[in-house]
Parts: sequence; structure tokens; C-alpha cells
Amino acid sequence: MRRREILGAAVAGGAAAATLLAAREAEAQEKTARAMRGVPSPKITDVSVIECAPQGSRLTVVKVTTDQAGLFGYGCATFTQRADLIKPAVEKYLRPLLIGKPADRIEDTWQMCYDSSYWKNGPVENNAISGVDQALWDIKGKMAGMPVYQLLGGKAREAIDTYGHASGNEIAECIDSAKKYIAQGFRHVRIQVGTPGMDGYGARNKNGPRIPSLHTAPVFEREAAMKRALALFEAARKELGPDIELIHDAHERYTPTQAVQFAKLCEPYRLFFLEDALSPEDIQWFRNIRAQTTTPLAMGELFNSPHEIIPLIQDRLIDYMRMHISQMGGLTPVRKIAAMGELYNVRTAWHGPGDVSPIGHMAMTHLDLSITNFGIQEYSEMNDLTLEIFRGAPVMKGGYLYANDAPGWGIEIDEALAAKHPFNRDNVLNGGWGEVRLPDGQIIKQ
Ligand SMILES: [Mg+2]
Repeated sequence: MRRREILGAAVAGGAAAATLLAAREAEAQEKTARAMRGVPSPKITDVSVIECAPQGSRLTVVKVTTDQAGLFGYGCATFTQRADLIKPAVEKYLRPLLIGKPADRIEDTWQMCYDSSYWKNGPVENNAISGVDQALWDIKGKMAGMPVYQLLGGKAREAIDTYGHASGNEIAECIDSAKKYIAQGFRHVRIQVGTPGMDGYGARNKNGPRIPSLHTAPVFEREAAMKRALALFEAARKELGPDIELIHDAHERYTPTQAVQFAKLCEPYRLFFLEDALSPEDIQWFRNIRAQTTTPLAMGELFNSPHEIIPLIQDRLIDYMRMHISQMGGLTPVRKIAAMGELYNVRTAWHGPGDVSPIGHMAMTHLDLSITNFGIQEYSEMNDLTLEIFRGAPVMKGGYLYANDAPGWGIEIDEALAAKHPFNRDNVLNGGWGEVRLPDGQIIKQ
């Protein structure tokens, strides 16, 4: 064809036209070659699991290796309370499914993994899938020579605004803790305080003699905790001023009507948001809270599937969605629900404490960088050992998190060093959580 065209052109229009045609064709061929360069489909040759606990929390990362030299990726699969179940879920079920499959078909691979258990949306399965999914995004970025945020459309902001966790047994201790964050440049801080004699959430709870109870388990009394939290907010506004953004996590410990009362009583303190006022089982009650107060609401860290939050977004019953990305099944499902949130003006505040691996934190950072409806990012400090194992983890500066610009997630794992810091086996519950009870002995949500 080419030859015939060139010949035809030469006969019809002379040598000049033939030269022009050949040049155009050469240019087109070069463009095609450039677009295809480095793109031969890599095949998955191994799927393995890296486990470590450099900071106490059990972290699980999946590594997907391909048949192309040096091309592999990492994904967060951390479910710290059931950490030992993730490795077999990956090795016994996903690995055989994935060996030999193309590593460059992320959506297709996610759907295949998701469907392969027939029953879906369990936390173990979803975390295992997340490990694979995020690893494939890492690989895709490396293939493109771009950080993942570029594959998601590029930066919508320069860095990620975050909040830190201030806490204390006593109110003054929590205020001091908050001041340290503010001094570092944080504009948002979560505040939690212990209640005397009780096991609250988010503080150390070593304050005074235990309240009377009919059992020896950790004990919690709702009214006292609520009054204590309100006293903290009042002191925080007095001591920290009107400009700092305050966040508080109720950790689903109140009854639904108490949650409505609490959200109303929070109003004078202008919280940035109230987190987990209700448990996932009680989300219909958000309508009651919404009807009675303007306190902003955040929900979602305990959801197992993006589908659970759809009614809260559709009816605009919350302000922030804050799912645990690996619990959702990885970046692939979360970016879809984030996009849905944008259409309803529900913003993001992904779950980001110490039981997310640095790979997971980086995945959130890249997503946060690229979306318009980003709200805030929960942040927890990484110790030196964590940063040594996960080289290239997001960097904190003045309350903002920064991604690096290396391809993929931009994190290299020192796997030998990680192996030297395995899960702590002294813990009798193996990383699982225990129990919390009311004074009369009734168990409540943690
Ligand atoms: Mg929480």
C-alpha cells in the first residue's frame, strides 16, 4: 500500500510530492512507535505478601511481580485486627488466579478478583484485593514513568491538608497536645480526652479510680463521656481560639438519640466535623441528626464496601466520607465513590491512622492530590524505622503531606529490614481488639 501510494504520487505529481508523502508516513510510524514504547503487556509472575510491624500496628503489603525485569508494584492490604488472615487470602486464593495474567488491566483484574469469591465485600477479601489493586496502579505508574496522581488526571492541589491526633487523660493535657500540632503549622486537629475512671476512645485512660461496675472488663459510661467531651470543646475554644479547626471522633459509642443530642450540643464549638456519631448499623439515624443540627458529619471508616455510603451521599446526610481505602478493595473502587461524592458535594477525609501502611497513605495522598472534592486527610506520624523500611513515604511539612514525583507510588520497600520487624506475638489477642462494657456489664461498640 505504502509503496503503491508513493509510486502513484511520484507518477502523478513528481518527486516532491512523493517525498512529502513518505515523510508524513515516516512521522506517523514514529508516533505509533513512540506510543507503544515500553508498553508490551507485562504478565504477573508472582504475588507475595510482606508483613511487618515497625510501629506496633501489623502492616500488610502485597507485592505483584511481573515478567519484565525490575517491574513490580506494592499495595496496602492492612487489616491490623485480623492481620494473619490476609496472607492466606492473597497466597491461597488470589495468587493462583493472577499468575500469568496481564499486569496492565487494572479494572478487569479488580472485577475478576472481586467476583472470584462469589460472596463479596468481606473485610479480609477486600483488603487482599486492595493489595493487588494498588500494586497494579504502582506498576502502571512505573510503566508510564509517572506518579499515580498523574494517571488520575494530575494535581488539583499542591499538597494535602491534614489533621493530627491530640489527646490527653486531662483536658489541659489534650490542649497542650493540640498546641504542639498548631506550632508545627497544622490548621486542623482532632481532640480526644479521657474520662475519669473509664476507658474512653483516643486517650490513654489512666485517670483516677475506676467507676463502680459489675465486671472487670474495660468500662464506659456514655453520659459522663459526652459531658467530658463538651467540657473539652469549651476549653479548646477558650485556649486555642476560634480559628483552629477542631475534629472529634465519637467512635459510635452513643445511642442514636444521644448522638443527635451530642451533635446539637457541639454546635457552639463549630467543629470541622464530628466523626462516627453513629455506627454503620444505625445510618438511617443520620437523617435525624441532619434535620436538627448544622454540625458537619463524617462517616465511613467501618464500611466494607463503597455501596454502604451511597444512601448517605445521595441524601446529602453527611459532609465527609472517610472510608479505609484497603477495606473498600483498593484505589479502583474508592476513586469511583470519590467521584460520586464530587457530584453531590460530599468531600473526602479518608481513614489514615497508624494501621494503614505507608503504601496505603501514599495511595490516599495521590488520590487526594487529584480530586476536587478533597476535604481533609487524617494523618499519623511515621517513626524512623517505618520511614527506613518504606523509603519515599509521604513527607509532612507544616501540616501538609507531600508525595514525591517518582513513578508509581514512589516508595521502595527494604524487604530485608521489614522481615526483621515481624508482628508481635506476645499480644494474646494477636492484634485483635478486646471488649468494652457499660457499668452493668453490657457490651458496647468500641
Ligand atoms: Mg475514627
